[in-house]
Amino acid sequence: MAVKYQNKCPHCGYRLSIRHSHIENTLLKILYGQCQNLECGWTGRGVLEWVYQISPSAQPNPDINLPFTPLSEKKLVPA
Ligand SMILES: [Zn+2]
Repeated sequence: MAVKYQNKCPHCGYRLSIRHSHIENTLLKILYGQCQNLECGWTGRGVLEWVYQISPSAQPNPDINLPFTPLSEKKLVPA
């Protein structure tokens, strides 16, 4: 099965590997990425953060209180 790279280097657009990550809290993950293009060599730090909910969980965590997506942003979710 082929590996699909979903992350791309912001500079050259080549594949970006997540080399390390750690969880700051339930809603925030810190990522460290490295471009796989040897002629570029970029590395960077990024975040994955949950900021809205679209539909509520059937098993909600009482510690999580995310706002619902504003109506204007619902149009961005693919059907
Ligand atoms: Zn690059």
